[in-house]
Amino acid sequence: YDDRDGKIWMDGKLIEWRDANVHLLTHGLHYASSVFEGERAYNGKIFESVKHSERLHASGGMMDMPIPYSVEEIEKAKYDVLKANGWDDAYVRVIAWRGSGEDMGVASNRNAVRMAVAAWEWGAYYGDAKMKGAKLDISKWKRPSPETIPSHAKAAGLYMICTMSKHEAEAKGCSDAMMFDYRGYVAEATGANIFFVKDGEVHTPLPDCFLNGITRQTVIGMLKDRQIKVHERHIMPDELEGFEQCWLTGTAAEVTPVGQIGDYNFEVGALTRDMSESYEALVRR
Ligand code: PMP
Repeated sequence: YDDRDGKIWMDGKLIEWRDANVHLLTHGLHYASSVFEGERAYNGKIFESVKHSERLHASGGMMDMPIPYSVEEIEKAKYDVLKANGWDDAYVRVIAWRGSGEDMGVASNRNAVRMAVAAWEWGAYYGDAKMKGAKLDISKWKRPSPETIPSHAKAAGLYMICTMSKHEAEAKGCSDAMMFDYRGYVAEATGANIFFVKDGEVHTPLPDCFLNGITRQTVIGMLKDRQIKVHERHIMPDELEGFEQCWLTGTAAEVTPVGQIGDYNFEVGALTRDMSESYEALVRR
């Protein structure tokens, strides 16, 4: 991803893609002092753009890393990047991190928080799973308690167990892994929220120790518009067997049907297809 033509916004200005580098002694690299956003632009418009910028500010607040640019400045930076690269449809990554300079220990208040915006063309997150349903492994790593880490932040450190889970899943031929939380309840996938269908009603884990995704909230709104009952609650592992349909939601994943989690199978049913197609229509409206 690094050696190519294009523009990246870094610390207030657009620079050449291949020059968007940081020093080895960057605090964020050593201690995970980094928060970020993942967004998608469709037809030149970033879906829920302001909500993402606000969430970046919230993540920075939770991680004691005040973001040095206002929401308005972040909005402008994102659209400047899309324009500079000539893209209407792209994935947009905004990242803020503690830089290098003064401190090299755990405390880092003297190192400024920096910010960058990059974008790239990124198609379906789970390949052809949109048609036949993704296959998920079950991770051995558990989403941590909010008393262990600010688990609602979109922060780099929370992704270490996600990367490990996804590597193990891919080695087994799966697209992703479903994770339980520290209490043993069903939580989410490594970069997407999860929904289940049973008897015409929808069940989704209560986001009390993981990201309450913007796509998740959008899909809950779509279900409520259709007068479909949505139960946000704690889901036990032994309930997986009784669910008929399952899908994942996320900016990158959009609405992706799930066909299998471990030994449990799900059909790619009418409601799953409806959510997947209606979400696609909504983001391009
Ligand atoms: N959970 C995790 C761990 C994620 O990385 C993401 C993607 N940001 C989500 C859920 C879904 O969030 P959103 O719908 O806001 O993209």
